[in-house]
Amino acid sequence: MSADMIMNSPETDTISSDDIDVIGDEHMMTGEETPIRADAFDMSDSEKIARISQHFREIMLTLGLDLNDDSLRGTPQRVAKMYVKEIFSGLNPANKPSVALFENKYRYNQMLVEKNITLYSNCEHHFVPIYGVAHIAYISSGKVIGLSKLNRIVQYYSKRPQVQERLTMQIARELQKILDTPHVAVVIDAKHMCVSSRGIKDVSSATVTSFYDGHFLEEHRRTEFLSYIGM
Ligand SMILES: [Zn+2]
Repeated sequence: MSADMIMNSPETDTISSDDIDVIGDEHMMTGEETPIRADAFDMSDSEKIARISQHFREIMLTLGLDLNDDSLRGTPQRVAKMYVKEIFSGLNPANKPSVALFENKYRYNQMLVEKNITLYSNCEHHFVPIYGVAHIAYISSGKVIGLSKLNRIVQYYSKRPQVQERLTMQIARELQKILDTPHVAVVIDAKHMCVSSRGIKDVSSATVTSFYDGHFLEEHRRTEFLSYIGM
């Protein structure tokens, strides 16, 4: 990929600075799929780290920080590595967890609920943390997956710049696909640092998003699920 492709990104040309503030502070979602460039994975991870490191260094210098200080010297490299290898590693389909399916031998045909799955993500409008818990339920159509895989699927989609609504839907759609069943419910209860530490500065509010399909569209199933997760 040439440097020009990154430098000449069109994103900021078509949107006014007023729109930028509104979309960010209202946390509006524009689509269910993470907007990813066609050339997103032409560059290797090490090339990305080198590039981000260079740009982050520029941000720090622009803010007026002295990168000769021993404490700050390694920060651009640390941030770049953390972005690519950890907190945004879920952008790369190569990092998607492989999921083994098992036969539902016991013919358990009630709902399975995995609750309080810890979740760390980042707001795509401000690049600051979103943290909370995800609760997942499904009713098997003959296949089951290991419980830890539910956590891994949550982690994978969390490790992207996100909006909570999209994160909820991406997890749910993935489960429906893997488990080959429409009967899936996902609830995410999370706090957004961009709401608590800046902007409106509301430290007590939390955002709840949900997805219900299949049998979970039925009132009694939904009530049962919500009673298990204590909501
Ligand atoms: Zn935000």
